[in-house]
Amino acid sequence: MGRYTGNKCKLCRREAMKLFLKGQRCFTDKCALSRRDYPPGQHSFRRRKISEYGIHLREKQKVKRIYGLFERQFKNTFKDAERMKGNTGENLLQLLERRLDNVFVSTGFALSRNHARQLVSHGHVQVNGRRVDKPSFRVKVDDVIGVIGREKIRKGVMVALEENRAQPIPEWMTVNKEAIEATITALPQREEIPHPIQEQLVVEICSR
Ligand code: SF4
Repeated sequence: MGRYTGNKCKLCRREAMKLFLKGQRCFTDKCALSRRDYPPGQHSFRRRKISEYGIHLREKQKVKRIYGLFERQFKNTFKDAERMKGNTGENLLQLLERRLDNVFVSTGFALSRNHARQLVSHGHVQVNGRRVDKPSFRVKVDDVIGVIGREKIRKGVMVALEENRAQPIPEWMTVNKEAIEATITALPQREEIPHPIQEQLVVEICSR
């Protein structure tokens, strides 16, 4: 599956919120949003009235950009969320949180979402002792996630852990930093997902 390779800070400026796509840089004053707090593009200063559809669309784009998905991947996840029992919006966010690349970001094992995705797709990640190279792999309760590969890879993860030391670990997992290992102890609940997303708007636009 492809991934977005353009300017990530432009995505944050378009959504007028921090999407945290560049690791620790996002927490410093080098963050583009803190310096250029307006949408990208030549006519960005033009005042535009945003339609009802536009509000819904922006919310969907936010979700896709936070988790680094293209439309087709997003739609497939949405369909899975619809098939599940319960609130579709919450199911959608839960499925996205359970992606293996997202777990790597949440544990602090990766410097950014792109780094997490690279570690997974290059075959440096194992789940329950078996190599998994699909960033979209969905973790489940009791899964144990670890790192495999050369010493250089482990060192890279240790650097990420050190950089992310202040990052809180979600309650639905435990992390053993010395062993570079994480265990999924529960499925993520809505209140444990930190992104300010109005999932109901996403459900409404995707259900049209
Ligand atoms: Fe977004 Fe991070 Fe760039 Fe700031 S530094 S604009 S949060 S990607």
